[in-house]
Amino acid sequence: MAHETLHTVKQADLLVGNEYAYPTYKPYDDAPVAARVRVVSVDGRGKVTVQVVDPGAKPPKNAWGARLVKRNEQQQVATRDIACPWEEWAERAASIGAELKTRVAKQRSWFDELEQSRADRVIVDAGRVLPEEYDDEFTRADTEERGTLTTAYIKARGLGEFVTLDELRPLLVDLPVPVLRDILASDTRRQSGTPGTVASVFIRSAELLEVARIASMDRHRNAGTEIPQPGDLLGEHEVAFVNTILEGITASGGELLLPPVPTLPDWVDEDMRTIASLFGWLRVAVADTSGEMLHSPGCTVVRSRPVLLVDHVPWWLVMLESPRRLCSKCDGPAVRDLVPMAGFVAAVDVWHARGCDRIEQWQQAAFQRLIAATMTARTQALEPDITLAWRITATLAEDPPGHDGWAAYALMTVTAWNRLDEAIDRLTPVQQEAARVLARERLTTLEAALPSSQRLLPLPRAVDIQVLRERYRDLKRRHENTVPQLDRLLFTLPGADS
Ligand SMILES: [Zn+2]
Repeated sequence: MAHETLHTVKQADLLVGNEYAYPTYKPYDDAPVAARVRVVSVDGRGKVTVQVVDPGAKPPKNAWGARLVKRNEQQQVATRDIACPWEEWAERAASIGAELKTRVAKQRSWFDELEQSRADRVIVDAGRVLPEEYDDEFTRADTEERGTLTTAYIKARGLGEFVTLDELRPLLVDLPVPVLRDILASDTRRQSGTPGTVASVFIRSAELLEVARIASMDRHRNAGTEIPQPGDLLGEHEVAFVNTILEGITASGGELLLPPVPTLPDWVDEDMRTIASLFGWLRVAVADTSGEMLHSPGCTVVRSRPVLLVDHVPWWLVMLESPRRLCSKCDGPAVRDLVPMAGFVAAVDVWHARGCDRIEQWQQAAFQRLIAATMTARTQALEPDITLAWRITATLAEDPPGHDGWAAYALMTVTAWNRLDEAIDRLTPVQQEAARVLARERLTTLEAALPSSQRLLPLPRAVDIQVLRERYRDLKRRHENTVPQLDRLLFTLPGADS
């Protein structure tokens, strides 16, 4: 129905002595109010003089645009302000009123729905079915909502007065508000939740946020947080998810460059090498310790600063370590950037729960944020894309000596005490010469990876074994802390118990 206008009477239609409706007030949500007036004279130039027969209902006080009229008073009014003959007014006013009421009701329900959906964005509900979509138009203007979720976090985890809102704020960033809301609906004590609900989807990310919270606290309050290793979190789902993102980017003509990871030698576990190609750049935090063993900053065996304050290295570097150097209690260095990791794991778990179909913007962002966190961590440590350790590893992994490495290793490291002389005695002169040639070749390869300022004079082809040993000891002394297991990188040592 088209909105009726009140201005329909032409001056020519007005008759002196007849009665008309003269609207005095038009509410936005109800029927207009009119005075009953009688035309006294038609004055020309769009004016008539009327006498008020009945002023009608009184407009509310201070009503906007209301006209004041008194009974029996005469007024000159504009013809266009007269609505219609009085006998038509009741019906006309009722129809306008009905239309306005419908319109206002519609607006109200629209506002109610909006209010409802806004409120719903921060209502934690474990029984909520996983939403079809998390990307939404409110994603930016949500500081207040994140504040509400901070309070919800305390309730969901039963933290009471043990935390301040300031401690929680860094956890509830970057992800869309509804995703964080649903992470809070998951139980961190490994209760699985009803299948299909958010409580069942976000278990890992809920746990990680809690770990992040505890691991960032002072050591004395942080007794024994089990900070996960990247290997505990990253497997075939995560690889498939990242490959889908990379393929999507490639399909649209772009390319996402991952931080570089060197090819690792064959003696590193094959599954590890596979995952290293996609995730080897991830930062792991190494606990403060003066001992030989490597620990996670949450390990109960050491006294360490919080996870974000300790040293960190790329994961691939730890993959090269001998398992004997990794603490058996904590399994060694652990995930550093726990909050971005929680977001990434949330993205993967939602993707998987939805049957690995399309990837939303926030999900791709969660992966890129992991890269960004790595870049930030590296920036703080002034670490370049390619380090010397990277170069030495990549160079020595390229053409490893395989089984022949043992003899070359024995030739370089033999002493009166380590019984390697027996191994050397078993070699024929031809085998000894081959071992000498191989040792020279490997040391030359290692030196080629060094910056020119650190290179010594090239070793002559016929270099004497004693000279070679001195060179080996010198290189070992200077670089054994640069890369783990330098001997193994140099000489492979197949069958050596790692
Ligand atoms: Zn430990």
